[in-house]
Amino acid sequence: MPDVEITCIQCKEMFIFSEQEQEKFYQRNMMSPQRCAQCRSKKFAKKNEGKESRYEIVCDHCGKHDTVPFQPKVGRSVYCKDCHEASRSKARVAS
Ligand SMILES: [Zn+2]
Ligand SMILES: [Zn+2]
Repeated sequence: MPDVEITCIQCKEMFIFSEQEQEKFYQRNMMSPQRCAQCRSKKFAKKNEGKESRYEIVCDHCGKHDTVPFQPKVGRSVYCKDCHEASRSKARVAS
């Protein structure tokens, strides 16, 4: 099998689907790739990013360790999920 040139559906760049890769794909009964290796790794990196972008915090209220999806601001109180929800529902009652 010769190397094949494929146009990446994401960045529209041509990339080489090498003989070696083709064999791997056909052995696993997979379709030929639609994205170049770069776009594939970008996609993979994005997936990982989502997992890692959680920040560990110590709740100001109960002292519990928790993670939040945003970077806590220095000098501002951070709450764990439970306390955050409790304070939110309290606020709703107050208003
Ligand atoms: Zn690409
Ligand atoms: Zn708490």
